Amino acid sequence: MTTPPPLSEPDPSALICPGDRVGLCAGCQRKTHRYGSGGSPLCQWCMEPVQEKWGAGVRYISTRG
Ligand SMILES: [Zn+2]
Repeated sequence: MTTPPPLSEPDPSALICPGDRVGLCAGCQRKTHRYGSGGSPLCQWCMEPVQEKWGAGVRYISTRG
């Protein structure tokens, strides 16, 4: 299991996406690619245990309906 870097370190996805799509992770509040296409409300370190639990196909939460 990888150890997340300090919360002052943004998620790598935040570094490669447009600045206006960066938001705070819903779990740990670090900067992550949150909005727009390919965004996620969770950073990769918060998403990791979620994906292990629900399967790798899970990318968005509560998008049904
Ligand atoms: Zn997080």
